[in-house]
Amino acid sequence: MKSSLRIIVCRFFYGQLPGMDYNRVMNNSGKINPCKPGFGASCSFCCGSHNFMLPPEEIENILAERNINAGLRKNLNQKDFSFKKICDDTLQCPHMGMVEPGIIGCLAYNDADFNSEFQEFFNSVCKEYYCAACKELTDRQILFAAELMHDWYYYSLLIYNIDILLDLYAEHQIPGDVPDDILESVKAELEQKLLDEDMI
Ligand code: SF4
Ligand code: SF4
Repeated sequence: MKSSLRIIVCRFFYGQLPGMDYNRVMNNSGKINPCKPGFGASCSFCCGSHNFMLPPEEIENILAERNINAGLRKNLNQKDFSFKKICDDTLQCPHMGMVEPGIIGCLAYNDADFNSEFQEFFNSVCKEYYCAACKELTDRQILFAAELMHDWYYYSLLIYNIDILLDLYAEHQIPGDVPDDILESVKAELEQKLLDEDMI
């Protein structure tokens, strides 16, 4: 069991509590929030955003659909999932979705009927999780990754593969300076690691 992602978690509440402004880019400590750093980037990796045996476009369609069928989603618990996973014993939370176009996040956070069952789950699991990106990356490194990838799929993979991000950052520092062929090879490497390694 390689990572703490094997614990059901997410940290959309990094420095935040339910009821606070989830949409902001900075967290309470004034640091950039790696879950939603701006530049069109976002992450829900620890909620299982990449734990689908599907291409990213299909995952995105599924997550966008959840916004439309909120009533159906609200009746699901964290053990309910509908799609084949890459890793069977880790999370594919039914409450991940597109909180705004292209931006992945926790839909349950904005549920008006935030019930006691969810409150308990958030308090015991979601709220307490901090991934390595939260702890180890500087604001500049997070923003470098966000501006470079400006999406949810590759941005998440990049900040979760800190060694790759730090090598890239050390060499270029400015996202616009990363040559296209290097960017494409990094994306291919990240995709391969997702399938080959015990990342999720
Ligand atoms: S893996 Fe880290 S950055 Fe991504 S959503 Fe979880 S806590 Fe946020
Ligand atoms: S309930 Fe929300 S924050 Fe918790 S794991 Fe699911 S999507 Fe992530």
